[in-house]
Amino acid sequence: MVREVVILAIESSCDDTSAAVIRNETILSNVVASQKVHEAYGGVVPELASRAHQQNIIPVVDVALKRAGVSRSEISAVAFTRGPGLLGSLLVGTSFAKAFALALGVPLIEVNHLQAHVLALFIREPGMTDRADASQAAPAPAQATTSLSAATQSADMPPVAARTAAIPPISAQSATPAPAQAATSAPAQAATPAPAQTATSAPAQTATSAPAQAIVSGPVYRVPSFPFLCLLVSGGNSQIILVRDHLHMEVIGQTIDDAAGEAFDKCAKVMGLPYPGGPYIDKLAKEGNPHRFPFTKPAISGLDYSFSGLKTNFLYFLRDQLRENPGFIEQNKADLAASLQKTIIDILLQKLTRAAKETRIRDIAIAGGVSANSGLRNAIQAEAQKRKWNVFIPKFEFTMDNAAMIAIAGYYKYLRGEFAGQDAVPYSRTHL
Ligand code: ADP
Ligand code: MG
Repeated sequence: MVREVVILAIESSCDDTSAAVIRNETILSNVVASQKVHEAYGGVVPELASRAHQQNIIPVVDVALKRAGVSRSEISAVAFTRGPGLLGSLLVGTSFAKAFALALGVPLIEVNHLQAHVLALFIREPGMTDRADASQAAPAPAQATTSLSAATQSADMPPVAARTAAIPPISAQSATPAPAQAATSAPAQAATPAPAQTATSAPAQTATSAPAQAIVSGPVYRVPSFPFLCLLVSGGNSQIILVRDHLHMEVIGQTIDDAAGEAFDKCAKVMGLPYPGGPYIDKLAKEGNPHRFPFTKPAISGLDYSFSGLKTNFLYFLRDQLRENPGFIEQNKADLAASLQKTIIDILLQKLTRAAKETRIRDIAIAGGVSANSGLRNAIQAEAQKRKWNVFIPKFEFTMDNAAMIAIAGYYKYLRGEFAGQDAVPYSRTHL
């Protein structure tokens, strides 16, 4: 009989400390502690991030193991994000993973954060059935993901199924202030409530209202077939990836300057919105007219992207308008957000469509933080209807930085015996 593989995974590449436990492809727990400390600075402060990771990591891992109902002796390997990311932040997760693996006497697995964003598409949730069994479909899967605050509330833990069913949806959890002291000995910062934007953005509803056949999450475990195309859009990356296999990916197009997430965040900042601005733009855009302001689209050859021109265009446009009318942003913020979002989505989809035509691939996925954008999700569904694509979108909580995606990547590497040594060091920059 094939042995079950249980992986403990750690993600600490930026400003979220996360730990997850996976049994084979099924996620058992995914705990994320976000760092509120950066909000006052309008961006992530690296030194503060690594300090907060140090405070968060032990309670986060502790809660992840408890929620999974897994004992240390059951762990087959420890996976961690090796890069890319902030070096100080990565160092905390890397050091913790090394020490934990050494203490348990189990292998260590290094994971590329970008590859993990793509592999989030393969996360299976408890209760999911395979397509063949779909006629006896199970009820909606239990919610495995939680913020640290919600996880700590269940101090005396009933069995996993009962426990997870009782936990409110992610948006509600994120909005709950954190009672850190309840279950851990961590300092108060360890369970800092998730940033407000997590609560306000959650476009999970978009996923549920979209056509059933285009959703990866739900009672049926549905994954793309190889080779497929994945548009990876995050705060640091905008890439079109040709995914040949779980661990064999090729970048066929990428941004030559800013990432799509950066365009969202920097334009949002110009509008006076909090950081990161992507979710705020998403929310405002729902009330606005996307055709009101025509912003610049780049003329870049091939499958590459560029977003710096749009950013400059947006900045200068607002500067000129504000000269005439100091209340311009306030009076037009929904239309500005909707027009900006439409421009970014048009740019993203134009090259993705071209890549699909050139490669003749019809299984299309999106991943990374910006794939949480409800406008992008809707636009890709519309494109899918038109072009007969099969679209795959990770569940909302697996699009942002999280350890569940590190865990699934770790699982595939474990199967291939790809282990790291104790001498592994984090890297701040890398590619697929
Ligand atoms: P990275 O790992 O490169 O830092 P993430 O995968 O964590 O990036 O994604 C963060 C980015 O996703 C930020 O730029 C944020 O603004 C963006 N983002 C998150 N939710 C949304 C949304 N609903 N609409 C647009 N952008 C979003
Ligand atoms: Mg990321």
